[in-house]
Amino acid sequence: MKIEEVKSTARIQRISAHSHVKGLGLDDTGVPIKIASGLVGQLQAREAAGVVVDLIKSKKMAGRAVLLAGPPGTGKTAIALAIAQELGSKVPFCPMVGSEVFSNEIKSTEVLMENFRRSIGLRIRETKEVYEGEVTELTPVEADSNLSGVGKVISSIVIGLKTTKGTKQLKLDPSIYDCLLKEKVEIGDVIYIEANSGTVKRQGRSDVYATEFDLETEEYVPLPKGDVHKKKEVIQDVTLHDLDVANARPQGGNDILSMMGQLLKSKKTEITDKLRVEINQVVNKYIDQGIAELVPGVLFIDEVHMLDLQTFTYLHKSLESPIAPIVIFATNRGRCTIRGTEDIVSPHGIPLDLLDRLLIIRTQTYNTNEIEQILKLRAQTEGLSLTDGAFKLLSEIGTKSTLRYAVQLLTPANQLCKINAKTQINENNINDVHAIFLDTKRSSKNLSDKNAKYMY
Ligand code: ATP
Repeated sequence: MKIEEVKSTARIQRISAHSHVKGLGLDDTGVPIKIASGLVGQLQAREAAGVVVDLIKSKKMAGRAVLLAGPPGTGKTAIALAIAQELGSKVPFCPMVGSEVFSNEIKSTEVLMENFRRSIGLRIRETKEVYEGEVTELTPVEADSNLSGVGKVISSIVIGLKTTKGTKQLKLDPSIYDCLLKEKVEIGDVIYIEANSGTVKRQGRSDVYATEFDLETEEYVPLPKGDVHKKKEVIQDVTLHDLDVANARPQGGNDILSMMGQLLKSKKTEITDKLRVEINQVVNKYIDQGIAELVPGVLFIDEVHMLDLQTFTYLHKSLESPIAPIVIFATNRGRCTIRGTEDIVSPHGIPLDLLDRLLIIRTQTYNTNEIEQILKLRAQTEGLSLTDGAFKLLSEIGTKSTLRYAVQLLTPANQLCKINAKTQINENNINDVHAIFLDTKRSSKNLSDKNAKYMY
């Protein structure tokens, strides 16, 4: 039987548009470097964000939150992500959009609570027994199979490990084979394999991998060659939401999430407030025992003007909780009516009492040169090559429409380039995609020009 893995529910897709962003790019005195850590320009906002990071680190942000206010595509999400990265590489970042809280099936406060818990990390230290040494042999063993058409079936893998105490031969589960292939482990590499009561389990990268976690630098570093059987501290980062999911649907097994999934005795099927309270109690016990540590992350709520009065009230209350994440709101609206009220008009559609608690950072539109630099960073991250002319043209398009639109044209332009059997995106490709896709300005102009032809 295949045991289903509980995967982290991090919202990878939304973050991938910002994969070139590595931090705020500030110098030692907190002053932004023009182009650094994947960020370009937006100097004032980046400097202010640096101050916020300092406040968070010195624990002076409790009960407060940040608002990034600026036109679309001016890097609000990118800066929020950079703040999370400055707080540490394992700090959770959970992006959401205000309108997400409105659903027919789930209460809006429930959606917010879930995202709060996605943004709070838990670092668990576990001492594991591991086999560690240099690989001298890697032999996949094929199963005796008389079934035709099945192809090769690997039933186990034999690994030779050379250690200071001699060479040991281990016969391991076939799942290890895939893991070794994926990690491109070769003879001569030093690896460690978790030894859990005689069986070896594969439960993620760090278990069959030639690295260990350095607590100082918070990075995985190559293992020194060592003994065959020793105790090793393994660090696992999960979010409170991961624990909620694991306990609502217990999986069984020996890896840490499965074990954390058996924290509670009863078999639950749904994440309820009661379950969360019970999990908090167990987590608090672990924290008191020094086994686990809370890592508050960043909850980013874009289009905050989409939230209504009820959710604002709930949010305001949650900000006061001792285990609240850092909440960063973003909006591109000026004064507007607060949703859920008839006529209360407020800056950014946010109730004044909450607004009072916010540190507001303004983002501004980019000039053509900055847009070109950002496009170059994106192209590099996506492995795309553009002619100088194509970069120039796309930056001009971005200046007239939005940066977001220009960034989005990169992938379809590359598609056209491939169809034409070229390796470098040129001006024709850019012109072609700009002609077939509309940016919001042209789309709304199109709508008003052809108003009569649309259905209402
Ligand atoms: P919206 O208001 O529409 O949500 P936004 O202000 O959040 O937009 P982003 O989504 O952060 O804007 O920016 C659009 C794209 O440009 C993203 O890929 C982002 O990573 C990139 N980007 C924006 N600003 C910068 C910057 N200063 N440096 C590098 N990349 C940037």
